[in-house]
Amino acid sequence: MTTPLAELLTPSDDGAFHCAACQWRCALRPGEIGHCHVRAATEEGITLLNFGLISGAAIGPVEDHRLWHFFPDTLMLSIGGWGYAFTTDQQRGPYATIPTDPAKQRRLDAERAANFALEKLCRGVVWAYGEPAVSHEYVLALLQLSRASSRVTALCTTGVLTPEALESFAPYLDAISFDLRGFSDASYARLGGIPDWRECLAIIAQAHARFHCHIEVSTRIHNGVNDSLDELRELAAWIVANLGDHTPWHVIPGDAGSETAASVVRAKRIGHESGLHYVYGAEVTQATRCPGCQATLITRTNGVARLIGLKDGLCEVCNHDAQIQLSIFKQRADRAERESKG
Ligand code: SF4
Repeated sequence: MTTPLAELLTPSDDGAFHCAACQWRCALRPGEIGHCHVRAATEEGITLLNFGLISGAAIGPVEDHRLWHFFPDTLMLSIGGWGYAFTTDQQRGPYATIPTDPAKQRRLDAERAANFALEKLCRGVVWAYGEPAVSHEYVLALLQLSRASSRVTALCTTGVLTPEALESFAPYLDAISFDLRGFSDASYARLGGIPDWRECLAIIAQAHARFHCHIEVSTRIHNGVNDSLDELRELAAWIVANLGDHTPWHVIPGDAGSETAASVVRAKRIGHESGLHYVYGAEVTQATRCPGCQATLITRTNGVARLIGLKDGLCEVCNHDAQIQLSIFKQRADRAERESKG
């Protein structure tokens, strides 16, 4: 198979190709490899070393991806690739490097993946492992094909996409599970390793405001790193101001220990005090309650979510619009209406 070339790039007069898939915007000359370790320049352009190579594929509940208000109680096909946009190995995690053993290099064509999701009656497809920005071309094909077969689509991302990458994904993208690692330069230096964490915020805010994607935010709390009162308050206030007070915030322990557990409790309290209606911890059995009257809207037991208090997206008791995505038709009609209003 011929290794395909990157689409989002600009050649420059000095012979370098400027990759515009993620915020590193690497300028690569022939023979050089990108910060992600999965894109390398040749005389012709930037080759995609990870194209079609998947790090995992599985069918499971959408809730597994910290998308609790996006078609609850449905199955998704989750797929991931290789490559991250972080700096250190610790930040990169398990899907950073393409396995050198050919026997461990699994290929899955994007069309086959989309067809598989349809055949298995999955509600949609989630790009779940590895940063989608560094797999831009494959992810774009997967989103387009999945949408063409009426599946819903979602990305799990650190937000390190460029505006160009987001713009290309957006017409085919329904939801984002945003991995927000903290709210300070110091936190991102330890946990993020990306060029400018505030650009990530701008991308997610744009996905919400301009492209009307459903957004859920997750933050892993690390004791002594990203758990100061001021940082957590600023983070929660940013979610409220930029994504809205109905945005779910998932607060998860980033490491073991009673101090981190106490920090998670404090973060949840701060989330509520900041005006967020839906703040969840790590426990998978948490129910969703109506912000208007506290009636139970969704229960989660034994890995199964059940809608028990919603009718057409409204609380059955008080008619509050819970802003939970339940219908593909309503979601896209709402989105079209908001887009027409600018
Ligand atoms: S995807 Fe990001 S890290 Fe990789 S080559 Fe492009 S700009 Fe660089």
